[in-house]
Amino acid sequence: MHCPFCQHEDTRVIDSRLTDDGASVRRRRECEQCGERFNTFETAELKLPTIVKSGERREVFDERKLRVSFERALQKRPVASHDVDASVRAIINDLRRSGEREVPSRQLGELVMRELKNLDQVAYVRFASVYRKFEDVQAFREEIEKLERDLPGLENLQLSLLGEGDIKRGKKS
Ligand SMILES: [Zn+2]
Repeated sequence: MHCPFCQHEDTRVIDSRLTDDGASVRRRRECEQCGERFNTFETAELKLPTIVKSGERREVFDERKLRVSFERALQKRPVASHDVDASVRAIINDLRRSGEREVPSRQLGELVMRELKNLDQVAYVRFASVYRKFEDVQAFREEIEKLERDLPGLENLQLSLLGEGDIKRGKKS
């Protein structure tokens, strides 16, 4: 690479080592012309995409916010925090793998739903009811019926949900 001091075209690598966390390589270079030394770093490009919200608003991806979404949906549900961690990591890896610079928040919501569906069905319906803004009890019931078809053996799901009064949150305000 070019020398940042004199713009000479050739610089020589005189040392190359892994950083302490192993996430990047540090190279010490020397300019053949002016003799100045400088470092370069090589890291994998794993930037997370910007999240495009409704109304074209853009937001930096925030892992903490993602975690809060999970915690809200999973309140008082018997799900271990390391399972939540794994789901959050799975979503982050999907976003990285996509290589997209921008991702609609809708797509992020679908990823959360995918993870919640495997973690806990009650949490899934809670999240879906808020996220998809079910307009009435009928739409809510249809979603649960669909879920029951997808995942047999959930006869008690509707009862436990209705018992907790969670559909209030899904109502239009
Ligand atoms: Zn130079």
